[in-house]
Amino acid sequence: MAKVEKRIINVNVKNIREFNLPYWEVDSGREGPCFLLTAALHGCEVIGCDVMRRFLPVAARDLVRGKILLLPFSNPPAVWNRRHNLYSSPSEPKGFGKDNINGAWPGKADGHEVEQIAFIINEKLVKESTHNIDMHCWSRFNVACAVPDDESKQVEFAMAAALPAVHVISRGPAAKREYYTLSGYFNATDRLSFSMEFSGQYMLSERESELGVRMLSNCSRYIGIFDGDPEGTDEPSIFFNHETPRAEVKAPAGGLFVENGLKPGDIVARGDLLGILFMDDSLDTLEIKAPEPGMLYSYGCHRRMADVDLAAQHPYADKDGLLATIIPTVRRT
Ligand SMILES: [Zn+2]
Repeated sequence: MAKVEKRIINVNVKNIREFNLPYWEVDSGREGPCFLLTAALHGCEVIGCDVMRRFLPVAARDLVRGKILLLPFSNPPAVWNRRHNLYSSPSEPKGFGKDNINGAWPGKADGHEVEQIAFIINEKLVKESTHNIDMHCWSRFNVACAVPDDESKQVEFAMAAALPAVHVISRGPAAKREYYTLSGYFNATDRLSFSMEFSGQYMLSERESELGVRMLSNCSRYIGIFDGDPEGTDEPSIFFNHETPRAEVKAPAGGLFVENGLKPGDIVARGDLLGILFMDDSLDTLEIKAPEPGMLYSYGCHRRMADVDLAAQHPYADKDGLLATIIPTVRRT
């Protein structure tokens, strides 16, 4: 068994009451990588907190080399607000204002609130770490997804997670920016890291927590701090960037989209029934079928950033409203 210690960083930043940033350090007592796990940098994205709670005993049992640092609540003031950022108001989708910690790395000792929090986490944990997974959440209408930068070693690390989806993004030349996302900062300082999105903000989910624990075990095996091979790599998955063809299923007319019991991540064949459109101006119904085979990357009638607003989650589709997105699956290996 590796040694587990709870440590506490006391945080005092301007405009916020003093608070603790507790973390667990799991130490094998042997040389090796230092793997930092972060979650809840955004206050409505809490699945990763539960994933770390469940992963701690696994890490204590399976760690054979190096160290793991687990920081479940990386930005408590945003969690207390129960919304994306420190000062997000009701129904306000994620913004990139000064209170969004995503763009604040590596932080600033005398900066604004989230720059100060980032600075403290950087000094205490990020500096000594060689690897990182930064756990976020997006709308429950999208499947869980690793989001690595478009660089082969970062993509390979993200593939090892065996999440249903990998979305490769090009952020442009990393070294030239003043501020980064946390994983962008790891990448810019030549360390392996990816950010990922669980399915579901403002909520916890058994299925997502299980995927998360498996992701952390798999990535620990990939970097050699656990023994053994990653699991789940033979499951159907999608791997895409902005150019990958996809079938966007849209409402041919206005109406209520009555779902057919599917969920993001389900595999559909061409012609499978996705749901029924019940039209308000004629009371006619239309069957909505999958035009292509693949994985449901998104499913359900919703507007962008629907998870912050019940009206945006309303199942009434305008003509051309998006009902589902289907992406062809690939073999991982
Ligand atoms: Zn986030």
